[in-house]
Amino acid sequence: MIFQTNISIAVKNLEEKYDIKNFSIFDVNKINKSFTSLKINFINNKTLLIGVKCEFCGNVHYYKYNINHLIKKDIIIGGCEVLGFPILYIGNYNTIKNRISRHNEIVEKTYALI
Ligand SMILES: [Zn+2]
Repeated sequence: MIFQTNISIAVKNLEEKYDIKNFSIFDVNKINKSFTSLKINFINNKTLLIGVKCEFCGNVHYYKYNINHLIKKDIIIGGCEVLGFPILYIGNYNTIKNRISRHNEIVEKTYALI
């Protein structure tokens, strides 16, 4: 069995669209550098703590994930508790891509109408 350690992360940006990028789960420095709004730390060798600076409510939201769970899951959604919408997706690239491309399209159309 191949141990899959690659994950995709998508974070909501200021234009209310999602940026998606691929990472190795163990390369947290690279993740932190790529997303300035993200701060990922290993709590231990099984658990990650992800902090997301939320541009919408101004708070930092924290999510704790088991790494094995994270790698196996198709999609994990982290939401803003204050405003109640997703700000973070982690998981399979194609699954996330499907979700966010629909969302990004809606945002683009909405902006075009204004
Ligand atoms: Zn928030």
